[in-house]
Amino acid sequence: MKRKGAAEVKRETGIRRSRYEEDRRQRRIVKIPVKHESDPVNNLPENLEKAGELLRESLGSEWVSDDPAVTCGYARDQSFTPAIYPHIVVLPASTEEVAEVFRIANQCKVDVMPYGTGVSTVGATIPLYGGIICDLRRMDQILELDAKNMYARIQPGVTYVMLQAEAQRHALRLTNPSTSATAGVISNHTMCNINTMASKYGFGMDNILEFVMVLPTGEVLEGGPRACGMQPAHVPGPGPDISSYFRYSMGTMGIVTEMTIRLYPEPAFMHQLYPAYDEDRLDDVIEALYRLGRDNLALELAHLQNTFYGIFIGDNNKEAERLVKAMPRNNIMAFFGGATREEAVLKAELSRKVVSEVSPKFDFIEAEIMEELAGTKVKLNRWAKYFRETVRVQRVRGSFYIGALIDRLDNFLGTERAMRTLTTDQVGTNDGVLRPDDASAYFQPYHMGRMAYLEFDLYSNQADKDDLLRILFGYLRASFGGMGRGALFAAGAACMIAGMPMADMALPVMMPSLMPYMDTVIALKMETDPNNICNRRWDYQTGKMKKLALF
Ligand SMILES: Cc1cc2nc3c(=O)[nH]c(=O)nc-3n(C[C@H](O)[C@H](O)[C@H](O)COP(=O)(O)OP(=O)(O)OC[C@H]3O[C@@H](n4cnc5c(N)ncnc54)[C@H](O)[C@@H]3O)c2cc1C
Repeated sequence: MKRKGAAEVKRETGIRRSRYEEDRRQRRIVKIPVKHESDPVNNLPENLEKAGELLRESLGSEWVSDDPAVTCGYARDQSFTPAIYPHIVVLPASTEEVAEVFRIANQCKVDVMPYGTGVSTVGATIPLYGGIICDLRRMDQILELDAKNMYARIQPGVTYVMLQAEAQRHALRLTNPSTSATAGVISNHTMCNINTMASKYGFGMDNILEFVMVLPTGEVLEGGPRACGMQPAHVPGPGPDISSYFRYSMGTMGIVTEMTIRLYPEPAFMHQLYPAYDEDRLDDVIEALYRLGRDNLALELAHLQNTFYGIFIGDNNKEAERLVKAMPRNNIMAFFGGATREEAVLKAELSRKVVSEVSPKFDFIEAEIMEELAGTKVKLNRWAKYFRETVRVQRVRGSFYIGALIDRLDNFLGTERAMRTLTTDQVGTNDGVLRPDDASAYFQPYHMGRMAYLEFDLYSNQADKDDLLRILFGYLRASFGGMGRGALFAAGAACMIAGMPMADMALPVMMPSLMPYMDTVIALKMETDPNNICNRRWDYQTGKMKKLALF
């Protein structure tokens, strides 16, 4: 083979580079900022150096790094929030070491950001002002699994797939979200926490029994029965009950280093039912979900529009689009469990009757036909995988923003329609049809259909500023539109939104009754984090946010 001369290589590289520049210019690729505050409150350079030294002494130098090759791995999450590097990354091995990290951070006035696995979709782990990322993945032990009393006590590095695999050895399981199987169980409970089996057993928050949390001061707080020195058990801890204190706190209130959660029996046999409704209206679908929820026979119950279906189990964009065309408009997924196959099938048959009574327009797609619709590339057992271990080892193009609303099922009838109108106006294609990566919705009843969760995901091309703006405004309009109709945004995070430009003006008007709650949470934050170091989002002095937390 003829080797290329240096001049030739140089010329080719030059051409390649200019094409890249042109591409970059045309697509308006977002540059990656490494900028921190120009006038920092915390994280002064000399203090960072001191903190680095003390951390190395305390944790051992192999567990502390300020090397950009390491810190850059923590600069992004799955959202389109611009990248920001932390100054230091630490990996503590115990509750005591986490407390030590906080003590040093307070002494040196350096920010600390708790870090699970970084698959949040709202910039939740991006260190806005830099500082320390506290990566908890070294603490990865299942400390106890009590099969008889059906609970597990875990550390923050325990992932869904780890705990599920261990629980299944004891014919048990936990409720799991549809994010990556490698997401942390504890971090999920500090954040989104929307999971399978919600219609029967509630969301993750309902399954927290107790916790150990290191407060930003370095003090250790225990909640639940263990706070009274009792055995872990399914009983309330001392009142007032704060056993889910950290839920939705998104790392603003401290670091959870242990949690005890409920496990549930894993049925020996499963059977699935796929009621489909091909019309683009939801009144019958919602009525069917009410009836199914109330009968409480299904272990897992969810409704997916075909668009969501495509995103959910399509391997790539092409596959997703094909699935959208193949699937009926509205699909209900129902899983039934039993000690015998007959028991699982009987429950499914009873439910089929209930759905048929709601409307004769429901079709029941047999498993083989579902397989045919899905095609050879899509494995339907992905559903079973979603149910058991979480499914999302991959996803289609782009980053996305999760629109996550909680409301009564009947109220969602109007909210879903409004969400689609708002997103179509803002982000949809010109023929008014939403592409699968633009908007799609699914409903998940929980607590036997008393309430429900509606998710709409808006995907964007992360490398394109115009696309980011288009999606952002569509997302905001649809989310605020839903809240205006009475739905609750499913991730409160009062400390994340405090002082946020626009929100600080809109919230007191839109939700005046939220204000006393926010004031209490903020007072707690200021009391337990006097130097404002734990996932700092806003300034104590001014009450304002200098940088936008979510986008
Ligand atoms: C494709 C996709 C699908 C998703 N689907 C779902 C879903 O169905 N349900 C759902 O609930 N979520 C979902 N998510 C959102 C997200 O992935 C999950 O909430 C996930 O569990 C976050 O876990 P993590 O370990 O990556 O947390 P991280 O992103 O690392 O952290 C999340 C937040 O928790 C804080 N934190 C982390 N660990 C601790 C700790 N030990 N103590 C205190 N604070 C801590 C962090 O500071 C951060 O604010 C989805 C995300 C993607 C990308």
